[in-house]
Amino acid sequence: MAKKVLVLGEVKDGDLRNVSYEVIAAGKQIADGGEVVGALFGENLKSHAEKMIHYGADRVVTAEKPELAQYTTDAYTQALLQVCDLESPESIIIGHTSSGKDLAPRAAAKLDAGLVSDAVDVVMENGKAVFTRPIYSGKAFEKKAIEEGIVFATVRPNNITPLDVDSSRSGDISSINVDIKDLRTTIKDVVKKTSGGVDLSEAKIIVAGGRGVKSAEGFKPLEELAEVLGAAVGASRGACDAEYCDYSLQIGQTGKVVTPDLYIAAGISGAIQHLAGMSNSKVIVAINKDPEAPIFEVADYGIVGDLFDVIPKLTEEFKKI
Ligand code: FAD
Repeated sequence: MAKKVLVLGEVKDGDLRNVSYEVIAAGKQIADGGEVVGALFGENLKSHAEKMIHYGADRVVTAEKPELAQYTTDAYTQALLQVCDLESPESIIIGHTSSGKDLAPRAAAKLDAGLVSDAVDVVMENGKAVFTRPIYSGKAFEKKAIEEGIVFATVRPNNITPLDVDSSRSGDISSINVDIKDLRTTIKDVVKKTSGGVDLSEAKIIVAGGRGVKSAEGFKPLEELAEVLGAAVGASRGACDAEYCDYSLQIGQTGKVVTPDLYIAAGISGAIQHLAGMSNSKVIVAINKDPEAPIFEVADYGIVGDLFDVIPKLTEEFKKI
């Protein structure tokens, strides 16, 4: 039976994040011929709403308020609940991003809905949306369906392929005046620790360094390679704990979970807690001077060698392409 699916787009630093297109593709999958309604919160949303339509949303509802310009749990929960009240969707899909992870359980609880979090795939089976999600730090996958009530899910970035873009597609863009009140937190200012670069959680290529880089200076060759490849720089907790880089770069169980097309791990031993954040990457290249390092067990390609020899050579070769 055709269903109405609400998908929440995400705007960060003035750009619509890729995960916004991925939630549309997931929404189409479970709408079963029904309607996929995009939702966007923030300011100056018109061009982002049009993009969501080009990527397959049937129409988009926007809520523009200064209180929604930056994510806060309170304001976004209020906005989402009011959109749900207006639209009465049968399913809601949000990106499994840092804000999505925060918003979804709270909103699902308020709606008395079941939540499947961190899905990497979804298909319709016997009229039900069946989500696949990793468990045991990515060592196994389980399938989950919500038996009754609203189907609420978050999808991990970089796993569901967006639909083909069609810039001739049109759809209704409506704006609703949400009532945001009694906020317990407001954001006065955002001071970024890391500057520019590719967003780690959505990056297609990641060059990650571990304790083997030996110093903050040791990250330089990795940054140069990342620049040539258009990649984001990541790190193990070992490197963060040693103060070679900021914790915002940490990948793993207690850091970011990433699924790039290519993950280059340099000077990272491959502890289970690190693998939890990157082992589902499509192609893993490990560079380590210890041939027994556990990272080689998950690597598709392994280079046994000193990263300070190997990385500059890779950079030079990629520059020629
Ligand atoms: P090490 O294990 O010290 O490995 C360094 C590697 O570099 C070695 O394999 C060495 O052979 C190699 N090397 C050294 N010099 C060179 C060189 N010149 N060229 C090439 N290779 C070289 N870790 C995470 O990463 N993410 C997490 O989210 C995370 N969460 C955790 C949560 C908990 C509850 C706990 C207990 C631990 C967690 N850890 C996490 C820590 C994890 O257990 C490891 O300690 C950490 O991942 C090790 O980092 P590393 O691989 O950089 O360092």
